[in-house]
Amino acid sequence: MSSQLRFQVVGEAFKKHPVEVPAPSERPSEFFAKYVFNRQKMKAFLPDNVFEKMTEVIDHGATLDLATADAVAAGMKKWAMSLGATHITHWFQPLTEGTAEKHDGFVEHDGKGGMIEEFTGKQLVQQEPDASSFPSGGIRSTFEARGYSAWDPSSPVFVMGDTLMIPTVFIAYTGEALDYKAPLKKALHAVDKAATDVCHYFYPDVKKVVCNLGWEQEYFLVDEGLYAARPDLLMTGRTLMGHDSAKNQQMDDHYFGSIPERVAAFMKDLEIQALELGIPCKTRHNEVAPNQFELAPIFEETNLAVDHNMLLMSLMKKVARKHGFRVLLHEKPFAGVNGSGKHNNWSLATDTGVLLHAPGKNQLDNLRFITFIVETLMAVWRHNGLLKASIVSATNAHRLGANEAPPAIISSFLGKQLCQALEHLEQDTAIEEALGDKHTIDLGIPQIPELLIDNTDRNRTSPFAFTGNRFEFRAVGSEANCASAMIALNAAVAEALMDFKQRVDARIAEGEETLKAVLAVLRQDIRTCKPIHFEGNGYSDEWKKEAAHRGLDVEASVPLVIDRYLDPGSIEMFAKTHVFTKAELEARNEIKWETYTKKIQIEARIFGDLCMNHIIPVATRYQSVLINNVHQMREIFSGDQLQQLTANNLTLIQEISEHTNFITTQTNALIEARRVANRLQDVRQKAIAYHDNVAPLIEEIRYHVDKLELIVDDELWPLPKYREILFIR
Ligand code: ADP
Ligand code: MG
Repeated sequence: MSSQLRFQVVGEAFKKHPVEVPAPSERPSEFFAKYVFNRQKMKAFLPDNVFEKMTEVIDHGATLDLATADAVAAGMKKWAMSLGATHITHWFQPLTEGTAEKHDGFVEHDGKGGMIEEFTGKQLVQQEPDASSFPSGGIRSTFEARGYSAWDPSSPVFVMGDTLMIPTVFIAYTGEALDYKAPLKKALHAVDKAATDVCHYFYPDVKKVVCNLGWEQEYFLVDEGLYAARPDLLMTGRTLMGHDSAKNQQMDDHYFGSIPERVAAFMKDLEIQALELGIPCKTRHNEVAPNQFELAPIFEETNLAVDHNMLLMSLMKKVARKHGFRVLLHEKPFAGVNGSGKHNNWSLATDTGVLLHAPGKNQLDNLRFITFIVETLMAVWRHNGLLKASIVSATNAHRLGANEAPPAIISSFLGKQLCQALEHLEQDTAIEEALGDKHTIDLGIPQIPELLIDNTDRNRTSPFAFTGNRFEFRAVGSEANCASAMIALNAAVAEALMDFKQRVDARIAEGEETLKAVLAVLRQDIRTCKPIHFEGNGYSDEWKKEAAHRGLDVEASVPLVIDRYLDPGSIEMFAKTHVFTKAELEARNEIKWETYTKKIQIEARIFGDLCMNHIIPVATRYQSVLINNVHQMREIFSGDQLQQLTANNLTLIQEISEHTNFITTQTNALIEARRVANRLQDVRQKAIAYHDNVAPLIEEIRYHVDKLELIVDDELWPLPKYREILFIR
């Protein structure tokens, strides 16, 4: 029996045929947001005055009184029960991965010995989950366990299964954020305020600036049976060993290929369920690597987009299992083929409908366009190390800075047209002279139709690329909560805009005309932020040298990159924008270092176990077969002939010994390295030790395991191989 068949038998759930996904009786426009308590449902289920109050709360951040909350809860309960909900949960995003929830039934004593269905405003607005087991980086001492979750009315509640899910922030009683959502909302508020102020130079009637996020989620699917036979995938989300498949992505055939039937059924099911939950899925396609796919919705307001991405990731896991798959969100599940990212398409837009990162129809619009581009670049330049820190993790390191990965450097690609426009503005002083009449400023950006600029040369190697009307932050990991990147980016851009405004206002106060002042400051900034601007191949070695020369952050060690959060410039920026206090930054960093250590620790443990329990015994068994064969040959042949005929096996026997000896000795060294690291008290030092001394040993040993995979009899090999896992049929 081939090993592939053996492993398929392992998974009971293995399904040869696609699961039938019945077509919904309604059209997407009808079932979209079926399970979401959106405005339409609010209007139907809430009294008029309550609906109006809620609109104020959602749109303008008005405070919510308990009477209104009670009325809203009553309407929600009625709606949710009509969909079969029996429980509620506050749904939040702790600093671990994923989301957390604690379910409570809709039941209360009725005071007469019975039960009634109840859901009060207080339950809706605030809860105290037992917070002691969520990481807090020492902010909230464990014995107190005093954290609470508070409703975020700007993200609508929804029903999933039998549960009414209430998006919430998660905060310590002392006020520090213990999650991603609270600081994200602060960063979005900061960028709204700063961008609105800057907009007033161009458009006095702007009242609000909204941040857009369109994420593109990449993922792998593997067969559940094969997955179950890989303890490394099961425990760490990636394969810690496995030789390249003879064929992987070199033919580029997967990217253009049609979607396999089983996968198509999964996608259809996922999309229908996602649409019902209000996630506006739009695009799906194969990615570069075999078994790799992508899903992208239409962009939304960032807070909502982040919630939708978190929801989608958990939905994916659930739906995949129904179809006999496991979804891998890890950034690098397989060596030798592409990893997965989550491009974050980011832009700012006004309440009057102007896309601030898009060129406009007249020269005033274009000056506004250049302003927002340049100040974004200023933010990215000033905080390039911090932005990298916002996306690093033990898992994303495999896409940034590690083996096979592009260098860990943040830079920005702009494309030819935008480059020329900036150059023109920087050098042509005649622009200023023409400023007498603001409608005749020639910025060297003629009426560029949006489509045209969108199709400018694309650079796939840039971690932060301008793509026509937005920036695409591509370094974000597939498994990550986008909020981390969005917090750092929006806070940094808010700071840049505040700083820009301060300098422009100073010039205006001295009597300079507004647009001339804007131009003068922009001209300075175009020069200042030049080091961040890079149009070349971001994956090349020359770039590493050049970037260091330019003063960009080139650190690749994750524990050291995390330090950037505590740079004086970062602390100041987060304080100015009211996003994080220093104490919060310190606490969060502790969690980041701890998480890093734990991830590598788990990898090292499972890897060591696999080496000793799976690989060495099997290699030794095969070696014995070869040794027996040599002995038996001795009984039949002799002399030169014997030597000739047994030469190959003798070489193999020796090679196997070399590999197994290396693996055994180094696995012991790995255990020792862990022991030494574990003795360190300081969380940062421990993470550094895991990075420097533990992680590299895994890679070193892996090389020998992968060599053994090529030698040992396929029937004996205890793990499904890449060629088996990577091609769904
Ligand atoms: P790609 O060509 O890179 O695959 P798509 O055109 O499919 O990109 O769009 C990727 C994501 O970018 C989608 O979620 C899309 O809605 C989003 N997007 C498009 N325009 C903007 C914008 N101005 N701001 C933010 N996101 C945007
Ligand atoms: Mg893209």
